[in-house]
Amino acid sequence: MKARNINGTSNHTCGCASWLKHWENFSGETAGLCVEKSCMSNATVGAHVQKEGVLDQHWYIIPLCSAHNNQQGEVIELYGNPTFVSANVSETCG
Ligand SMILES: [Zn+2]
Ligand SMILES: [Zn+2]
Repeated sequence: MKARNINGTSNHTCGCASWLKHWENFSGETAGLCVEKSCMSNATVGAHVQKEGVLDQHWYIIPLCSAHNNQQGEVIELYGNPTFVSANVSETCG
């Protein structure tokens, strides 16, 4: 599973305390490690991504460390199949 980091969206806000909290609220999970394949840092950011290699242009939130969140435009290989939470606030917390 791969995702493209679309970042550059820090102006976007939602009704949750943060995008990481948004991910927790709608995944029902607690953020732990960054979901990049081999990263051992704690996830500190709910990053905006698109799924890579599939016909799905929706924006999603996944938990990443700040270093991976800053890799704007990069394709990130993910550990397993992490939960993708919709970044569309009208479908979630809006
Ligand atoms: Zn939210
Ligand atoms: Zn990371």
